Amino acid sequence: MRLREKVAIVTGGSRGIGKATVEKFCEEGANVIIWDVLRDDGEALADSLRSRGSNCDFQLTNVTEYSSVETNARKIIDSYGRIDVLVNNAGITRDATLLKMTEDQWQQVLNVNLTGVFNCTRAVAPFMVERGSGKIINTSSVVALYGNFGQSNYVATKSGVIGLTKVWARELGRKGINVNAVAPGFIETEMVRTVPEKILQMIKERTPIGRLGRPEDIANAYLFFASDESNFINGAVLTVDGGITI
Ligand code: NDP
Repeated sequence: MRLREKVAIVTGGSRGIGKATVEKFCEEGANVIIWDVLRDDGEALADSLRSRGSNCDFQLTNVTEYSSVETNARKIIDSYGRIDVLVNNAGITRDATLLKMTEDQWQQVLNVNLTGVFNCTRAVAPFMVERGSGKIINTSSVVALYGNFGQSNYVATKSGVIGLTKVWARELGRKGINVNAVAPGFIETEMVRTVPEKILQMIKERTPIGRLGRPEDIANAYLFFASDESNFINGAVLTVDGGITI
């Protein structure tokens, strides 16, 4: 029970890595609030966790809309009195090479992966500052470290998230808040289902551990940063990639 009675928000918590995180945080005793645009999946997950005795809620939240994020953060404060953990996990891809990328593809990815992270943190951090404690976990990607063909928009945001992590670690550290990032390698979720099998095979071969990651592998890293075990870690970027970047 490493998160006993903590109040945690997981964005993009309806499926994939976020879903595994919601389940793990509930197992560890947290009250978890899912912020996602996927209503049916999110509500079903929250219902199923509640039926197993956990405390989990779903709030339909589009991270790109500041007013909805702010309203929902306020509702959590009204119900629970605090927010201890924010996992900025929601993310999308709209891949195309530079020469084919449309303005819309560029902007959509920036809106969710970068502005969304700003919106959620901007809305939640003041409540953490008020209590003098909190954990903010941002989701980058290994592609931020070495670039990736066809992902100008995505790589720009995931590199930006590393920058934001370091700025906020400096700004909020003295206020009792730790800000860290996880950079996942290739993880078996809907997001990589569009990647051709041949490429996935190549990725596995280049990964010393010899497989793709599982959503739980990332959930475990988020858990570490959400728990007291990481109290002296701030501004770090943890790659969780089976060694693909070495
Ligand atoms: P998924 O696509 O499986 O899940 C992401 C969730 O976020 C979905 O439920 C999605 O809804 C939701 N979401 C999308 N846009 C918004 C929004 N505007 N507001 C709220 N929720 C939203 O992704 P993963 O679980 O694979 O990825 C989770 C994070 O990990 C992302 O930030 C991703 O970039 C990062 N990552 C993933 C890797 C991988 O290999 N899977 C590798 C490296 C990093 P919808 O389905 O409707 O879009």
